[in-house]
Amino acid sequence: MILPTAEIVCLGNELLIGVTINTNGTFIGEKLTKLGYEVRRTTCIRDDLELASAFFKEVFSRKPDVIIVSGGLGPTYDDIQLEVLGKALEAPLIEDEQAVRQLEVYYGKRNFKLSKERRKMALFPKGATILNNRVGGAPGCHIQYAGMDIFSVPGVPTEMEDILLNHVIPILNKKVENSLFELKFQILNCSESEIAPCINDVKTHFPDLYIKSHPAYKGKIGIVIHISGYGKKTESSICEAKAEMIELFKIKVPSLIINNFKD
Ligand code: ATP
Ligand code: MG
Repeated sequence: MILPTAEIVCLGNELLIGVTINTNGTFIGEKLTKLGYEVRRTTCIRDDLELASAFFKEVFSRKPDVIIVSGGLGPTYDDIQLEVLGKALEAPLIEDEQAVRQLEVYYGKRNFKLSKERRKMALFPKGATILNNRVGGAPGCHIQYAGMDIFSVPGVPTEMEDILLNHVIPILNKKVENSLFELKFQILNCSESEIAPCINDVKTHFPDLYIKSHPAYKGKIGIVIHISGYGKKTESSICEAKAEMIELFKIKVPSLIINNFKD
């Protein structure tokens, strides 16, 4: 099955120097996958105008259907996402009236004036549609460019989640046809290498399914098997694949235990 493709780009030096864990990449990746996108890459990139704008040109040349960009929408000197996008798109930054109004309301409620730094958050590449941020100050935006949908969201995880769930996902939901079906189960009392040949066999019988074993690590016990695929018919294939796998596992390691698994 051919799925629409997506790339995620997370801007911020802090993501590259071990200060901040890129939880936004994981969150956005999960949501897009469940919605029916094949996420091809998640990249972290420095807050550097030349480096990041050149990188976006590379992303555009791959023509993913969707690009989500997180981080760098705020008021500080290193918040340069919109400048980076403007340079890569060769689009001037224009002050958006709706964004100015939103920022006036947001800061007005806190008795703050709309300083030069705060007003910077209303400068968007020409043609962008503003996405309201209900949690923080900086609005996001949606840009349509050369057949791609580019969404710009803040770095603060709660703000990113608000814009992603309330604006981005509803827009994308209208564009996708096949959403994800998945199940997970846990196996105890055996090692991953013992059951590897069984997993290989089942994978050859169900080439359209994604089958992944996760070995125990860092205090977690058992092996978790994750099976997923897209489209309505997939639900029954996943159950068949699970049944076949369990049968083969039991022949190989009769003492193993199978449990249901919930994250
Ligand atoms: P703000 O308006 O608050 O400045 P912003 O869009 O400019 O938001 P950043 O300045 O890039 O976002 O980051 C704000 C906070 O969010 C920082 O504490 C940063 O570490 C965190 N953050 C940024 N990107 C990510 C990410 N990919 N995953 C998790 N946390 C992140
Ligand atoms: Mg910031």
